Amino acid sequence: MNQQLSNLSETGAFLSAGTSIPAAEASGVREECGIFGILDTAGKSVARDIYRGLCALQHRGQESCGIAVSATDGPPKNMSVHKGLGLVSEVFDENCLASLSGNLGVGHVRYSTSGSTTAENTQPLVLTYMKGTLALAHNGNLINAASLRREQEYTGALFHTTIDSEVIAYGIARERIRSSSVEEAVCRTASRLEGGYALVVASPRKLIGVRDPYGLKPLCLGRRGSAWLLASESCALSALGAEFVRDIRPGEAVTITEAGICSWPVTESPIRPAHCVFEYIYFARLDSVIDGVSVYDARLKSGAALARSCPADADLVAGVPDSGLTAAAGFSMESGIPFALAFCKNSYVGRTFIKPTPEERQSAVQMKLSVLEPVVRDKRIVLVDDSIVRGTTMSALIRMLRQAGAKEVHVRISSPPFLHPCYFGTDVPTGRQLIASSHSVETVCSLIGADSLGYLTLEDLGEMTGGLPLCRACFDGRYPMEVPKGDIRNELENL
Ligand code: AMP
Repeated sequence: MNQQLSNLSETGAFLSAGTSIPAAEASGVREECGIFGILDTAGKSVARDIYRGLCALQHRGQESCGIAVSATDGPPKNMSVHKGLGLVSEVFDENCLASLSGNLGVGHVRYSTSGSTTAENTQPLVLTYMKGTLALAHNGNLINAASLRREQEYTGALFHTTIDSEVIAYGIARERIRSSSVEEAVCRTASRLEGGYALVVASPRKLIGVRDPYGLKPLCLGRRGSAWLLASESCALSALGAEFVRDIRPGEAVTITEAGICSWPVTESPIRPAHCVFEYIYFARLDSVIDGVSVYDARLKSGAALARSCPADADLVAGVPDSGLTAAAGFSMESGIPFALAFCKNSYVGRTFIKPTPEERQSAVQMKLSVLEPVVRDKRIVLVDDSIVRGTTMSALIRMLRQAGAKEVHVRISSPPFLHPCYFGTDVPTGRQLIASSHSVETVCSLIGADSLGYLTLEDLGEMTGGLPLCRACFDGRYPMEVPKGDIRNELENL
């Protein structure tokens, strides 16, 4: 039997969910953030473009958002900013956008990976220093934020937030005092950062984009007429009708001014970049292309690979909306088993993943997804999702399918078992929360109540992204850099 495939169809083992799935703490795995920056060299106002860019990146964070804009021909300390808790469409209205005038700006959508969800922790962070006002939006997680912050505090810095991004913003402002340009200050600051980061910075006259030396976090460059754009994902460029120019390279920074664009190495890049594999598996939007790989293609390939490595005798293939749909289509194409919609999704219910207790998460799953009974009754089903973290979603869905009369449910997961914490932006600092880290595939299969369970292999994971160098430490524990031993989750809050 395939090592990653457990087949319990003979035993029909079924343990009720909620009782046997390990309870997770309030802060489980969390998603990343989305960042966006734009400079219109013809002086046109950019607030509405940032708004649209953030709407296209909304899937990367729904806790809070913000926009900061300034005019490159205005006073250097004149930055307008508006931030708030909630979705982009909730935080901004027409009046608010009209009040944000300027041709240079950055925006942020947040799903916290460090620091709690408070108004102070919203981004962009805006600070005024001797050269003017600087706005910074950050995606990622630093592993040395606490030590950098302590060092800055000892030299008199005062912090207003509990997020690592403020350590970066303060670092740039402080380095600027002894640097001849903001680029040099960014360089000096970046050379001290450890972890995953993509940054967009609006300094009074320049738009700057930076990507960590491993390229863990995505950032791409686009162009539309007189405007240059930077965004976490290419889907935000398409949403604005901008042309994709290229990805920012690992360890690269770009400065955009009215004179054009220039690129410079921000730190020495490692020989082998390590792009976050979870972007392709789950985070990124289907229509984005990151580091030359289409997210849609990667997911389709993962489903096809699953069909080859973990085949199942079934009547139909269904995906968990929305994260499992593309891999399910890939499984169906490869296996010839018809694709069907087994669930109807209520798009107006918020995220189920971050509810604090297993019971709440389970009922939230039921609120969000309902079974299409006529489709599944008396059917043997292959059910595809992108990942199992705690097992809550899958056990709830299998129970619902069985209640609706499904005969068999064969679960296929388009990633390998999630075994190790991520320190770079996916907030799972303790392996304890991950069901696969303490249970065999057979036991997980039994706990979620499936007839069989199969995961993508590590080899197929590599193929799904066409050999792109990846960080897949959450699956194989091989981190691209040395990582802290303990739990760094609330470090800055506890300082
Ligand atoms: P769980 O119910 O805890 O096993 O979580 C698995 C479900 O959460 C799957 O449907 C995934 O699509 C989704 N998921 C996986 N990773 C994340 C993440 N980092 N943030 C939010 N949802 C996620």
